[in-house]
Order: sequence, then structure tokens, then C-alpha cells
Amino acid sequence: MWKNTPLISQKYITQYFNSNKTCGKLHQKVIYYFEKEVTVYNVWKNVLAEIEQKISAANFSTWFQDTSIVSIEDGVVIIGVKNSFYVKQLRSKFLNLISDSLSKNGVEFNEIEFEVQTKTKSKVRPREVTASEVTPIKKHIKPIKNSLLSSNGLNSKYTLDNFIVGSNNDLAASAAKSIVDAPGTRYNPFFLYGGPGLGKTHLVQAIGNELLRRNPDFKILYTPIADFYSDFINSVLKGKGNEFSQKFRTLDCLIIDDFQFIVGKEKSQEEFFNIFNALYQLNKQIIITSDRLPNQIKSVDERLASRLAMAGAFDLQLPKFEDKCAILRSKADLMGAKIEDEAIEYIAENVNTNIRDLEGEFSTILLMSDVRGLTPLELINKGAVNVSHTSKLRPTSTKQVIEKVAKYYQLTPEEMCSKSRVANIKTARQVAMYILSKEMSMSTTKIAAEVGVKDHTTVMHGIKKIEQDLKLNFALRDQIDEIKEKIYG
Ligand code: ADP
Ligand code: MG
Repeated sequence: MWKNTPLISQKYITQYFNSNKTCGKLHQKVIYYFEKEVTVYNVWKNVLAEIEQKISAANFSTWFQDTSIVSIEDGVVIIGVKNSFYVKQLRSKFLNLISDSLSKNGVEFNEIEFEVQTKTKSKVRPREVTASEVTPIKKHIKPIKNSLLSSNGLNSKYTLDNFIVGSNNDLAASAAKSIVDAPGTRYNPFFLYGGPGLGKTHLVQAIGNELLRRNPDFKILYTPIADFYSDFINSVLKGKGNEFSQKFRTLDCLIIDDFQFIVGKEKSQEEFFNIFNALYQLNKQIIITSDRLPNQIKSVDERLASRLAMAGAFDLQLPKFEDKCAILRSKADLMGAKIEDEAIEYIAENVNTNIRDLEGEFSTILLMSDVRGLTPLELINKGAVNVSHTSKLRPTSTKQVIEKVAKYYQLTPEEMCSKSRVANIKTARQVAMYILSKEMSMSTTKIAAEVGVKDHTTVMHGIKKIEQDLKLNFALRDQIDEIKEKIYG
């Protein structure tokens, strides 16, 4: 019931209440009940949407598909899961992520607990609640605060020690080591680029953590560029624009993630440029990640692009077979998980997209192995797992995909990525979203930016639509196969 509960809007509840005014207390209780469930339901929906952006599709569907919030009461968030293995895994791997996302969605809490929900037990226990029970929830849902003014954004799980160095990332990793030895000197600004899931966030977070470990008084701030924007705007609205600028200008190290999302928000870009210059002149360390080079980001201000171009850019490449095996072996050691070398090699061989997918498949196999009581290799030999993440595309070939899809539908990329709702243009756009997601494992937020749609929900809807159509529409299947052939050429 929990997952399938249609979203009952506040408006509906109010209407319901108004039309039954005379019915008194009972209806008030019904309303309290709905308010409570709807609030909690919405919060979890938002938390999941956020988590989905941060981890691989495989990881998301393995670990989060069947979760729910059972309750948020007295500072304790209880999350419902399928079985106890999930409790172990969610706690060890995703607790920080869940905790960050809950905070970002305005939930105040001291503790997160997990509860195994048996199939027969409804995830929401329908019962009447009284006003006194509802109040504590409201108290725990607070407006989103200005997070950049109050936290450094670092996540301690990312360290240089657990960043495995291989032929795909050795130059970037050695630059990272120089930065922690002598911040603000040789590699400043440090520009790190590479496709999704290749370790950009991990490496720059690790630099931040190591700098802080060596210099506890250092003022460091990590933020995705999108959060920089929203916090800047919020601060200005709250009359705290100066406080925001000041906070940034006093930093010893500023880490900006996913810089490709810098868009034409002029005032914020100007503010960023000013902060960048101020820090740069003071020889403070600036670290920026992006999925492409500065001159390939359309909306970036020319002055800023040329400043960034002065810094040498370091890239992260797709890992080779040996790199992948080393990463998996190290993850297994860290988790204390038992997995045969052949099983590791099988996963490494079959995941050719990125490290995020590699981790996702690895977790899935460990989970299945636990649930079925077979070793990972036994599972693989029985044909019980089907690992396949193959992309012959280079991670930076988004443009190529867009061009090929547009051309196939006899459109220009601009026409296809316009706001047009003409049927064939809309279909072409949705096919592009589908291919970018399936073949390049791009996040829906990134796809939205690439194909010029409003936000990730439009992309999710587009991909779902194509998936649905593909079940019955054989012509569409052929079209997509043909497009893929053209892309892989
Ligand atoms: P990006 O920011 O480039 O999209 P992330 O930094 O989020 O990628 O990396 C995706 C996942 O892969 C993370 O869980 C990260 O810890 C892991 N990962 C990436 N590179 C490495 C590496 N060299 N060693 C260990 N884990 C890695
Ligand atoms: Mg990242």
C-alpha cells in the first residue's frame, strides 16, 4: 500500500475536510492520518529521487526499490526494508547517503533505524492517530536550511587510501597527492574531468578529507555547483548574501563538483567568478570536477573558461580489466566479503561502462549469493546472474548520440532538443534520453541538461514511455537498434 498509495494532495484533504465539516472529530482524525502519511510519503519520495541521482541504477534498484519510511517520530527515522541482509548493507554502505538526503529534505533526526517489513504486513499501518501524535512529526520536518553555511559537505567514506590507483587514473591520483602535500601551489586550480561513475567525486572528496586530516584548522568546502547556486539564491533572498560571500572568501580550499551544470544563471555565475578570483589571488586551493572540459561547456562565462583553461586538466579514464579487478578486490576486502577470483574476473569482464556500475553489479551478486546460500562463483556458473554493462561509446560522446538520433529522425540536434511538442520531435527526444540512459549510464539530471528538458522527472517520464512502447512497438525496437548500429558504427 505504501508504495502504491496515490499522492493525496493537500488540496484533496482540505476539500474532504470542508465537505464534511459537520462530522467533527472523526474526520479531523482522518485528516491527521492523511497529513501524516502524505508528509512522510512525500519526504521519502524526494529522498529516493535524490539518492537515485547519486548511485548507479543497479545499486538503486537493488537496495532502495522496496524501501519505505515506516515512521519519523521523536527524532528516530525508521526505514522499512525487505530482509535483514538489506539492513546490514544499507547501514554499512548507504547510511551517510540516506542521512544526507533526509537532512537535505528537511527532516531533523538523531537516529536512523531499519525495520524488516514482512510481505503480509502492510508498510503503513492504517490506524487513526491523534493530534498529539502528529505534532512531533511536524516538529521534525524543518525548512531546508542553508547547508553550505553550516557544513563542509565532506563525506568521510571517501579517502585516498580507498581510491584504487590504476592506469586509468594514475596521473590524477598523483596530482591529488601533490595537492594534499602543498595545497594552493602547483596544481591550482585543479580541474578533474571524466565520464560519469569514474571516480571524480571520490577523488576530490578524498583530497578534502586528507587536507582536513593534516590541517584540522583548514576551512574546506565541498559543494556540487547546483547547490552553490541554490544556496546563493536562498542566501540573497534571506538577506544573507554577504554572509555567503564572506564564508566562501575565507576558505582555504573550495571543491566544486559537477561543474558542467553551470548554467546561464548570470548573477550566480558572476558571484562564483568573483569568489574564484578572490581565492585564486590568495593562493587558496580550488578544485573543480566536470564531465567535460571547460571549453566544451556552453554556458560558462568566457573569462572563467579562460581562467580554468590555464590550469592543466586531469582526466579519469575507463578502467582496464586489471584496474577493475583491483577495485573489486579492494572493495571485497573492505567489506570483509568472500568472493572468488574467478567471480571478480567475470564481473570485471562484463561491466564495461564505469566504476559505479561495477560496484552495483558486485553488490547485487553478493546480495544474491547471501540470499540463495551459494557462493558468487556458484551463482555465476549456474547462470543465475546476468551481468552485462557494455557500452562501446566513449563517455564523452553525448554529442555524438544526440547528433545520430536527430539525424535518424531527419532533424537537427537543435530541433530535437527544443521545447517542441510535435509528435515526431518529442519521440526523437525521448529516444535520445533512452539511449543516453541505457547506453551511457547517464543520470537523468545530466540527460535533462543535454536534451534541453526542464528536469530529471521529464527525463524519467520519457525513458519510461519508451520502455513501455518497446514492449509492443516492434517498429520502434527496430529504429532504436538501427540508431545504435549507427552510433557504434
Ligand atoms: P563520478 O563522480 O565520476 O560520477 P564517483 O566518484 O561517484 O564517480 O564514483 C562512483 C563510485 O565508484 C563511487 O562509489 C566510488 O567510490 C567508486 N570509485 C570510483 N573510482 C574508484 C577507485 N579508483 N577506487 C575505488 N573506488 C572507486
Ligand atoms: Mg560525481
